Amino acid sequence: MLPLQIASMMGFLFAVFGLIVLIYVIGRFFIEGGSVPGFPFLASTIAIFSGVQLFALGIIGEYLAHSASPNIHMLAFHLHNITADYTKIEISGDSFATRIRKLKTNPHYAGFNVTIPYKCRIVPYLDQLHQTAQNTGAVNTIKSVEGKWIGYNTDVEGFLQPLKPFENNITNCLILGAGGAARAVIYGLLHPDKQRSVTVCMRDESKGQKILQDFVKFREKNEIELRVFAAACDIYPDYDLIVNTTPIGMYPHVEESPLLLKKELNKPLVIYDLIYNPPQTTFLKDAKNLKGSVTTISGVDMLIGQAAESFKIWTGLEFPDSEARQLLMNKLTVS
Ligand code: NAP
Repeated sequence: MLPLQIASMMGFLFAVFGLIVLIYVIGRFFIEGGSVPGFPFLASTIAIFSGVQLFALGIIGEYLAHSASPNIHMLAFHLHNITADYTKIEISGDSFATRIRKLKTNPHYAGFNVTIPYKCRIVPYLDQLHQTAQNTGAVNTIKSVEGKWIGYNTDVEGFLQPLKPFENNITNCLILGAGGAARAVIYGLLHPDKQRSVTVCMRDESKGQKILQDFVKFREKNEIELRVFAAACDIYPDYDLIVNTTPIGMYPHVEESPLLLKKELNKPLVIYDLIYNPPQTTFLKDAKNLKGSVTTISGVDMLIGQAAESFKIWTGLEFPDSEARQLLMNKLTVS
C-alpha cells in the first residue's frame, strides 16, 4: 500500500472514531439534560470505547457548578484503581419528575447522590428505603440494584461523626432551617437515652409542622419546638449546639450569615455550619469572635463523613478520608 493510501485510510478511521465520539457526546448531553462534562466524563468515554467496565454514578441537584462531590469520589475510585464516572446531573424544579423517570430507565448508573433541594422530593421515586432514610424522610444516596432504586441517608452519620467528642454535653440544640439536611440533623440529635431538646427555626411553618408530625415517634424522650427564623437571634445563648442547615453564607454569598452573633455566652457552645464552601463561613468566623467558650465545626467534616458512607454503600470499600480532605481544601481555597 502506498503511503498516501495509508494516510487517507488512517484519516478515514480517525474521522469515523471522531463521529462516534461526537454522537455519544451529543446523545449523552440530551439524555442527561446538559450535565457538565468534566474529567469523569472523559474517563467514561475512554472506558466505553476501550471496553473497560465502568462504575457510573451521578449527583442530582439543581445547581451543581460548585459541588465537590465528583472530585472526592473520583479520587477515591482512582486510589482503588476502579474505572469510574461521576457526573453532575443538574435538574430544574419544573422538569424534575420527567428527568428522574428518564434516569430510572437508564441502566448506565450504579447509584447517585442527591443534593439541595431534592433530598425530600426524590423519596416517592424510590423502590425501597433504608431505615435511616425512612426515619428522616430524606435521601442523599441511591444505590441502583437491577433497575430498582434503594434510598439511604448518609448525612446522619456524616453529621454525627465530628460531634462525637461533645456528645455528652449537648442537651439543648438550635437548628436553623427545616429542609432535607435539617431532617438528618434532627434525627441524629433525637437520642433515645439523652433527653435532648431540639428547637427548629424556619421561615415556612408548614415545613416545621411536617417535621413535628414525621418525627412524632422519636419524641418520646426528646422535645421538638418550632420557632420563626428571626427569633433565633435573641435566644441563641441558651443552647449548647447551634447548627446552620440553610444555604445562607454559601459560595458565592460568602458575606451572609444566618444569625447575628453578638451576645456574650455564659456556657460552652458548639456552632456547626453544614456549608463546606467556603470551609470557614462568616457564621463560623463570627462565632470564633464571641466572648466565651466556643467550638466551631465546618461542613467539610460532614461532607467527608457522608461521602465515606455513600462510597461504602456503592462499593463496599473504604473511603480515603485524608486524601479527600486534602483535595477538597485545595479545591475550595482556589474557588
Ligand atoms: P434544602 O432542602 O433546600 O433546605 C434548605 C433549608 O434552608 C430550607 O428549610 C429553606 O427554607 C431554608 N432557607 C433557605 N434560604 C433561607 C433563608 N434565606 N432564610 C431562612 N431559611 C432559608 O437544602 P438541604 O439539602 O437541606 O441543604 C441545606 C444546606 O446544607 C446547603 O448549604 C448544603 O450545601 C448543606 N449541606 C451540607 C452537607 C455536608 O456534607 N456538609 C450535607 C447536606 C447539606 P424553605 O423551606 O422555606 O425554602
